[in-house]
Amino acid sequence: MNALPQVGETGSAVPLGDIVPSFIRSLSPYVGGKPIEEVAREFGLDPDRIIKLASNENPLGFPESARQAILKEMHDLTRYPDGNGFQLKSALSSRYGLPQDWITLGSGSNDILELVAQVFLQKDPGQTSSAIYSEYGFIIYELISQARGARLIRTPARAGYGHDLDAMAAAIAPDTRVVFIANPNNPTGTFETPDKIEAFLNKVPSRVIVLLDEAYNEYLEPELRYDSTEWVRRFPNLVVTHTFSKAFGLAGLRVGFSFAQPAVTDMLNRVRQPFNVTSPAMAAATAMLNDQDYLSRSYALNRAGLTQLNQVFDRLGLESVPSFGNFVLVKVGQDAGAGERVNLELLKRGIIVRPVAGYGLPEWLRISVGTAEENEMLAHALKEVLAA
Ligand SMILES: *Cc1c(COP(=O)(O)O)cnc(C)c1O
Repeated sequence: MNALPQVGETGSAVPLGDIVPSFIRSLSPYVGGKPIEEVAREFGLDPDRIIKLASNENPLGFPESARQAILKEMHDLTRYPDGNGFQLKSALSSRYGLPQDWITLGSGSNDILELVAQVFLQKDPGQTSSAIYSEYGFIIYELISQARGARLIRTPARAGYGHDLDAMAAAIAPDTRVVFIANPNNPTGTFETPDKIEAFLNKVPSRVIVLLDEAYNEYLEPELRYDSTEWVRRFPNLVVTHTFSKAFGLAGLRVGFSFAQPAVTDMLNRVRQPFNVTSPAMAAATAMLNDQDYLSRSYALNRAGLTQLNQVFDRLGLESVPSFGNFVLVKVGQDAGAGERVNLELLKRGIIVRPVAGYGLPEWLRISVGTAEENEMLAHALKEVLAA
């Protein structure tokens, strides 16, 4: 019998080099914002005094309407959820005006991004597939594409760190299956106008899926909003994803959804786990859809927070990218160690933000909009750190 591995031993008797594909072995795991408890332990801080501005969650706190809906759901958690999500889909269908068979539900919209990669980047033996995403585009696109063994095509950003849609269209190769676009994008906060997106959609051949990720859509000012459901009706190769994690305030529950024509939706449904969204999550999301009050407050708090943060950065003479989301990308120094250095100093002061060196932006930090008080604490700490 083999000896049990000892704690701390790193070798493995499984010949991983032989049985795990190289594209999996070379994946770098996703690095999220540090949890508050972890920072408290590492830096010996009181968790109640730590503020987290690192994962773009909603600073308003969990919506009361969602809490009530979950409490009502509690009596029946021995049963599996409705795998077709009838209630939530009908609520989405009324709100967005698309039939239920155009809707896919996910455990967060990341789940749906995975479904798209699974369906379209999979290849028959001897074939290749490629995925296109932008430099500084949401990192998950690269991760999930690499995890499927797809060829990765990263197009250079336009001036101002946004997606260069012309370059993305020009990069489409015979084996391209998916183009990923986040609008607004994370971590840059950049926005591409609807006329540009529409021109792009007109250029893309129908054998290429366009994934338009609208995670931050609810934060757009009314005059910038556009109705992508109309594009979903017109373009059979378009998948639009939305999330309940940001403006709707349900990040911990993991719920997202997508719109696509029934043929594509049907394919996503084939690889989806039958019970991928939990019943409390669906109940909360259904309630949230009618909680216009929470949504309006999310929006207003974010507008005020963006103004506040921009003023802080201006006062400190820091360059930042104008943001259309609920976070700001700010340049905290000129050298490649700046992001890490300022991040560490902020952590010591109980403020968690997000370094973005993994995006090729080592001089920058991404800072989520907090409450007015949290933004003020950040301002104070940042001033202190930069003066040191
Ligand atoms: C936060 C975010 C999402 C949403 O993720 P969920 O899995 O729904 O929590 C999707 N796309 C982008 C660009 C994001 O920043």
